[in-house]
Amino acid sequence: MDKKKNTNREVKKKNRNEVFRYICKTGMASNPDISYELKLSLPTVTQITKELIERGLVEEKGEMESTGGRRAKALAVSENAGKAAGLDITKNHISMVLTELTGRILKYQRIVLPYAPGDDYYKEVCGKLEDFLKEGGCGRESILGIGISFPGIMDLEQEVVADSHVLGVRSLPFSSVSRFFPYPCHFLNDANAGAYAEGIQSESMERFFYLSLSNTVGGAVYSSGKLEQGRNFRCGEAGHMTVVPDGKACYCGKYGCLDAYCSAKCLTDGRVEDFFERLRNGEPEAAALWENYTSYLAIAVNNIHMVLDCDIVLGGYVGSCMEEFVRDIRDKVSERNTFAEDSSFIRTCSHKIGAAALGASLKVIELFMEQV
Ligand SMILES: [Zn+2]
Repeated sequence: MDKKKNTNREVKKKNRNEVFRYICKTGMASNPDISYELKLSLPTVTQITKELIERGLVEEKGEMESTGGRRAKALAVSENAGKAAGLDITKNHISMVLTELTGRILKYQRIVLPYAPGDDYYKEVCGKLEDFLKEGGCGRESILGIGISFPGIMDLEQEVVADSHVLGVRSLPFSSVSRFFPYPCHFLNDANAGAYAEGIQSESMERFFYLSLSNTVGGAVYSSGKLEQGRNFRCGEAGHMTVVPDGKACYCGKYGCLDAYCSAKCLTDGRVEDFFERLRNGEPEAAALWENYTSYLAIAVNNIHMVLDCDIVLGGYVGSCMEEFVRDIRDKVSERNTFAEDSSFIRTCSHKIGAAALGASLKVIELFMEQV
């Protein structure tokens, strides 16, 4: 008997969850639409949306456009249903994003704030985040949580930043960061966060590898809404694949890692946008750097593709700026590819700005969705 009750409860929760996700995804829907699209009976959908309205998650917003018969009530996510924040911590900046439950970005800001170990830094970050949220018209009570992205290995079991070479951090407990913020905090690696932003809002990409080409090189394997973590939470750390035996020194202490050849710093010490402007203008020095860069990148991309046989998304600062030059990589990968296929599996990321902060906030939204 109890088992039957439990099963009923699970089915109800699953249906409620699907209905709420559908309303979030479409922005506006009616009970008959939802019933038709999700193949649930109209009384079931009506009961669920009534419950969602009572819980303050959904509200009626006028009527849908008539398609002939009686106009159906339009349902949308309530403006008070809650919002999520994302915070991306890097060596010299923080990026902050505020998103609503539909995933729409309400506000984004990136500011210069060099990382420094210790309480003062986190107090300052928290102050900046509070200002940012206040400017976004958000009261504390409406924030469901913040997703915090770090450039390092995140041990989600031990709940520590296991290692961030860039920040000079080792075994930093999540709790020693979250205690500064008056919100529930969720932590993830920056490449994972970028991959999550890329994957969770896309319907077509079930599985792909996200190669993050910023001041360091990272990566992540996204698979049907999940990020593969690996035994030591190091899945996707493509920056430390060897591309040249005993090659250039990498910051990790080894030689010949991809990071030493394909970080954004290999192209410019300044803004990546400016480098691509020079490349666009045909400056020989920029062209030579790009030629060299893409040669090594092609080795890595081909190797990753050989192992995983899935799409490869180029992200990070470089991936965000190189859309018009992606052909250069595709051609070089095609030359290396044993199997005569085109290289359209290589593409640039769709979120060009603040992908890691966005991914971190979308993770908060997903965790909220799961328990609706
Ligand atoms: Zn390395």
